[in-house]
Amino acid sequence: MSRKKILLDVDEVICFSGFLDAVNEFLGTSYLIDDFTDYYIDEVAIPKDQFEDFKRFASARNNYENPDFLPGAIETIEQLSEYYDIYICSSCVNPFYPLESGDVFKNKFNFLVEYLPFINPENFIFTSSKQLIKGDIIIDDSISHLNSDIEIKILFPSYHNRDISDRELEEKNIIRGGRDWRNGWEEVKRILLDENML
Ligand SMILES: [Mg+2]
Repeated sequence: MSRKKILLDVDEVICFSGFLDAVNEFLGTSYLIDDFTDYYIDEVAIPKDQFEDFKRFASARNNYENPDFLPGAIETIEQLSEYYDIYICSSCVNPFYPLESGDVFKNKFNFLVEYLPFINPENFIFTSSKQLIKGDIIIDDSISHLNSDIEIKILFPSYHNRDISDRELEEKNIIRGGRDWRNGWEEVKRILLDENML
């Protein structure tokens, strides 16, 4: 039997996207990720009259320079790569200045090569049109990316998806990869290394 293909998101699944650090540095605050329930934490935290300055500040940073990994991410992905073909499926567009996204592509690529050397760079799919990509399994923290054509859809737990109801997930045939990002990878490992899944 051929190996199943996993489409794997990066931001908020392998590592935090760095926006929280950018917000805290810019404002001199010490917010924690669980202080937020909205995906776009900058829109909630940054005062309107400082937003233009923040956009420039955040865009000049390399968010992958000192990555803040989700617990167990690297070890678990390496373990999964023994059984599955893993494809990175991640957007690299700068949300503030789309035409200046080159650095994001470069920084994310370099980050992946450095920290996930067991994934072939030919398996990196950098796109915001994730719905076009097919695989057997998808792992993402954004419910909108969990393509209905993919059989196994795993919602990685995150600060912004805690309030999605079990009913909604059930209707969309989505598996919740736990309730807390701290043990999301433990849960994903349990699901994907189950002998019935392999
Ligand atoms: Mg994500």
